[in-house]
Amino acid sequence: MMNNSQLPGLYVHVPFCGSKCPYCDFYSVTPRSQMGQWMAALEGEISLYKDRFPVFDSLYVGGGTPSLLDEQTLTSLIKGIFHGFAISPDAEVTMECNPDDVTPGKAVLFRSLGVNRISLGVQSLDDKELGFLQRRHSASQAERALACLQRAGFDNVGIDLIYGLPGQIQSDWCETLDRALEFEPAHLSCYELTISAGTPFARMRDEGVFAPLEEEEGRALFLATAQYLADRGYIHYEVSNFAKEKKFMCHHNRKYWKRTPYLGLGPSAHSFAHGERWWNVRSVSQYCEHIFKGRSPVEGSEKLSQDQASLESLALGFRTKEGLDETLFQNRPQAHKIITELCESGLVSREDGRILPTPKGFLVADSLPLLFY
Ligand code: SF4
Repeated sequence: MMNNSQLPGLYVHVPFCGSKCPYCDFYSVTPRSQMGQWMAALEGEISLYKDRFPVFDSLYVGGGTPSLLDEQTLTSLIKGIFHGFAISPDAEVTMECNPDDVTPGKAVLFRSLGVNRISLGVQSLDDKELGFLQRRHSASQAERALACLQRAGFDNVGIDLIYGLPGQIQSDWCETLDRALEFEPAHLSCYELTISAGTPFARMRDEGVFAPLEEEEGRALFLATAQYLADRGYIHYEVSNFAKEKKFMCHHNRKYWKRTPYLGLGPSAHSFAHGERWWNVRSVSQYCEHIFKGRSPVEGSEKLSQDQASLESLALGFRTKEGLDETLFQNRPQAHKIITELCESGLVSREDGRILPTPKGFLVADSLPLLFY
């Protein structure tokens, strides 16, 4: 599915994982004892929003690790969402999966529940790298999961990969890419390993257990990835995202980049509508407590000023292949001169009244908007 719909998207956060990966700073917990409570609380949150969003045309079940839910819980979850909200019949319905959870039975179940897109957390197809990342699966398990999803009839499978591991050189990374490409995935997300404060990897780096790649090496890998995948026909439509065809660009994630409204449910989930952003408490216990006591689980909100909103639009535009309409720069002093300089340095190009970032531009996408302020 590929369209420019302004209909909102729905995100549901499943806050459970089999184990905690040392680089991850998403909110998730490993004990599953609260799963029943979380499900009950989610039902409560669904009813809070029941009539506030007329129809969604994307559903993204992420986390955490949604695929670790047992078949009964998964069925109640998806059925509960479809029962609680109007989801358009041609909606993109994505489920994040980890390879070790994918069995032929579950793959068939996903499809029967209306899931039509899988985002598979492969991260690497090298067992040593998977060991370093402390993933729960091996390369061959990931390959089996991919084959299994394809056999179940999924034509829209996205593979998530991480590059820029300590000591990784281009040929190691390209080997993982090559093995992934053998499955002709509809979509690839390639994220550079980032060491976020407070994660076990941050501590290990500080203790000298490993040395992260130099910034320049990471940049070289990014540009190599862009070229490698472009040469194989993939569309580099966002800094970290590549689609085999336009129709496989992630419709849900594009809403985030286009500032289309979305509703996020579950602990730590973020929402955006009518120029306002709000977010839920992170902790599963607090989330459940709020709902069970009849209170909203929203922890905070912000309304962006006109200036903040336009800075954000620029920032998001520079992260996507679609870029920005030139008219957005009309009233900005020096804009013409700055854009000409960016074109000369190969960071953007001009096409049909739009400013389009190049892969080199993607590398500095976050700093480009500030040039106009
Ligand atoms: S499985 Fe995914 S969400 Fe869970 S800890 Fe690992 S990276 Fe984070």
